[in-house]
Amino acid sequence: MIDTTTYRSRLEEEKAKLEKELLSVGRRNPTNPMDWEPVPQEVGQESDPTDRADLITHFEDNTAILKDLEIRYNQVAAAIDRIDTNTYGVCSISGEEIEEDRLNADPAATTCKTHLNA
Ligand SMILES: [Zn+2]
Repeated sequence: MIDTTTYRSRLEEEKAKLEKELLSVGRRNPTNPMDWEPVPQEVGQESDPTDRADLITHFEDNTAILKDLEIRYNQVAAAIDRIDTNTYGVCSISGEEIEEDRLNADPAATTCKTHLNA
């Protein structure tokens, strides 16, 4: 049986950090809390065409950053869920226990080393 205490605190820590980063580039979709949407930077009063182009670039950047953050956030949240439901540390392919060093490298891992790229 895996001792999940350390993994849980590491996951909770990462989740809080990701939440903060997500909130700096996006907001939660009001109709789907698992989904995040990017927010454009505040539009200034005197927005000339140059500013507008800059704004669109910012928005696209945020979309890419947000997507990566969202994927990781959902992985981390799912791992915490698995700890709560006592299914943590089990390979989703083979159902065998995930190696400790793999969990140490990534506490949100869902597969053992054999099924790393599955
Ligand atoms: Zn496996």
